Amino acid sequence: MANEALLTIDYTNDFVADDGALTCGKPAQALDDHITELADSFLKAGKWVYLPTDVHQPNDPYHPESKLYPPHNVRGTWGRKLYGQLGNWYEEHKDDEHVILMDKTHYSSFCGTPLDLRLRERKIDTLHLTGVCTDICILHTAIAAYDLNYQIVVHEKAVATFDPAGQDWAMRHFKNVLNARIED
Ligand code: ZN
Repeated sequence: MANEALLTIDYTNDFVADDGALTCGKPAQALDDHITELADSFLKAGKWVYLPTDVHQPNDPYHPESKLYPPHNVRGTWGRKLYGQLGNWYEEHKDDEHVILMDKTHYSSFCGTPLDLRLRERKIDTLHLTGVCTDICILHTAIAAYDLNYQIVVHEKAVATFDPAGQDWAMRHFKNVLNARIED
């Protein structure tokens, strides 16, 4: 039987809220119910819920994203807090050892983080991906997971981006190139 974990990636105010610094807007806001239900169902089933969450220093001159985007997900700010119902759910469950918010500083949840070690310690072989943006951080995380031999499940109704063409392209890439299973 597969040993599964849920990854809920970058579902923060800056990436989701109307006034977020780098928001996906309405398509991301529309995921809130489903993404929260998935987190709750994984936790209730005794599975692991990881929340790899972008974090930055403001205007870090050494970080490549400083040349690409305005400051976002700055540590300690409202923008870096988890959005909406998922944010409430996290506050209720953050002391549960199965709920783990993890700092990340690049697109992939594996880049510069202990995520792979933590998953291997727990014998997890299958990763369920949710969050934003489908064609940026979800995509880069999926590619890294594929290269590390994890089975990937992408929840189509729990991932979003600001770019409809990017959403379509990434969903095809997950399925056809990364051998992901697609679920709701
Ligand atoms: Zn970033």
